[in-house]
Amino acid sequence: MSHNPKPFGENTSCPICYGDVPSPENVGKYAGALSRFDNETEVCSSCGQMEALAPMCWDDIREQLMEAKELNFWDGWKSTIVLAYFRGQGGA
Ligand SMILES: [Zn+2]
Repeated sequence: MSHNPKPFGENTSCPICYGDVPSPENVGKYAGALSRFDNETEVCSSCGQMEALAPMCWDDIREQLMEAKELNFWDGWKSTIVLAYFRGQGGA
């Protein structure tokens, strides 16, 4: 089941970062990215990129994402992507 309120292509708010979909410059103009979590949840372009990038950058984040996906645990997936953003900005 998708974690968006609307069908793919019609969402304007990302369920991970709550930012605009697909991006602040193009909100509502075209569809966002499909989340790797379930291949049906629509996320913004930035989160779509982070989902692809984070597992290549950090082993522990890759493991957390795999586990969240296995358990079908959306909140775990979401918070791991948020953590990846934080790290990408030079955080912990
Ligand atoms: Zn997002």
